[in-house]
Amino acid sequence: MLRVARLVFLFVLLTTIAFFATAQTSNGANAPSPISSTPAAAAPTFDVNAAVEAYLAKMPPARRARSNAYFEGGYWLILWDFLSSVFVMWLLLRFGWSARMRELGERITRFRPLQTALYWIQFIVVTSLLTFPMTVYEGYFREHKYDLLNQTFGPWMRDQLIALAATAILGAILVIPLFGLVRWLGKSWWVWGAVLTIVFFAFVSLIEPVYLAPLFNKYTRLADARVKDPILSMARANGIPATDVYEFDASEQSNRVSANVGGFANTLRISLNDNLLKRCTLPEIETTMGHEMGHYVLNHEYKGLVMIGVVIVIGFAFLNWGINFALWRWGEGWGTRGITDVAVLPLAVIVLSLFFFATTPVTNSITRTMEFEADMYGLNAARQPDGEANVDMLLGEYRKLDPGPLEEFIFFDHPSGRTRITAAMRWKAEHPETASPEEVARVIFEAK
Ligand SMILES: [Zn+2]
Repeated sequence: MLRVARLVFLFVLLTTIAFFATAQTSNGANAPSPISSTPAAAAPTFDVNAAVEAYLAKMPPARRARSNAYFEGGYWLILWDFLSSVFVMWLLLRFGWSARMRELGERITRFRPLQTALYWIQFIVVTSLLTFPMTVYEGYFREHKYDLLNQTFGPWMRDQLIALAATAILGAILVIPLFGLVRWLGKSWWVWGAVLTIVFFAFVSLIEPVYLAPLFNKYTRLADARVKDPILSMARANGIPATDVYEFDASEQSNRVSANVGGFANTLRISLNDNLLKRCTLPEIETTMGHEMGHYVLNHEYKGLVMIGVVIVIGFAFLNWGINFALWRWGEGWGTRGITDVAVLPLAVIVLSLFFFATTPVTNSITRTMEFEADMYGLNAARQPDGEANVDMLLGEYRKLDPGPLEEFIFFDHPSGRTRITAAMRWKAEHPETASPEEVARVIFEAK
C-alpha cells in the first residue's frame, strides 16, 4: 500500500504561458496533413533513429541535467529508505519498546485480535513519527526543490495524515489474521500468510479507485464531449464496458499527467487527471488512454498479482526463516516471546525490507514489462505515435530519458523515454499513413 502510494509520484510545474501557447498551436496541427493523403511517400524517408534523437534533443540540456539528478537521487533514496527503516525497527527491538507496546495492548484487553490491533496502531504511529524526517525531506522538500510539488505544507501534511489513517485501518485488516495464522498453523504459517497477503493486495487494488483515490482528490464526471466522446469510442472499440469518464484534480498535488482504467464490475472506472486535460493535445490524451486501456484489456492487474504473488511467497519463506534465525541469534534482550508474538513485527519489517530491497530489479522488471506491453497496446489502439512520443517527453520531467540498459533494468519501473519513443517511432515507420510532420515539430520544453 505504501509502495503503491509512493509510486504515485508527484510532478513538475514547468508549464509556462508560452508552453500553453505552443500546445494550443499544435492542436491545430492535428488536422490532416498533406502527408496523410500521400502515404507511400513517407515510408522510405522515415528514419526511426533520427526521429528518436530529434525528440530527445527537444529537452534543453539544463532541464535534462535536472531531471537526471532528480531520478538518479531516487536510486540512493531506495538505499537510504531501507537503512533508515532498518534503524528505526532496530531501535524498537533493542530498547524493548516493541515489547512494551504489546504489554499495553494486553493490559487493555484479553481479546487476542484486539491486542494485535492495539499493537499495530501504536506501531504505525511510532514508526511514522521516527521516520518523519526522511518522509518530509523525500516527499516535501526534495519535491519542491525540483519544482515537482504544487502543495504547501498544510495540504501536504493533510494528505500524509489521511494516508496514515488508511494504512492504520487497512494494515490492521492484514496484520490481525496474519498473526492469527502464525498462532494457529505453526511452522507452515508462511504459505497461507503469503496467500492471505496476495488476497489482501487484490482487495486493496479493487477498492482503490472508488474508495481510496477520492480521499486525496475530487472526482467529477468529465463533461467536455470533445474529449469524452473519443475516449468512450475507444473504450467501446476495445471491449471496455464503461459509460462515463471521470476527471480528478491532481493539479492540487503536482503537474504530473496521469490516467487510469481500473476496478472490476461496478467499480470499473476510466479516469484522467486535470493535468492531462490542461497540458496535452487530443492525440496525446488518446494515446495515454490507449495505454491505460491496454492495462485493463491485457488483465495486467491480475497477471501482476500472480507474478508479484510468486515473489511474495518466496519473500514469506525468507521471512519465516529470517525471523526464527534472528530471534535465535540476537533475540535475547528484545523481550519478545517468539514468532507468535506480535512484538516481532519490527523484525518482520527488517527481514521483508531486506528481501524487497534485494529484489528491486525483479519487481521493477515485472512492472516495466507490463508497461511496455501497455505502450504497444496504446499505439495500436490510438494510432498516435507522435502523441505518444510527446507524452513520453513530458514524463521525462521526472524520469530519466536516456539511461544505460543495465540502469534501466535495475531501477526503472516504467520503460525509459528513449525506449518508449523508439517503440513509437518504429510503429510510425511501419504506418506511414499516420505521419504528420507538424505534430513532430511541437515544442515540448521551453528553455527555463
Ligand atoms: Zn501504465
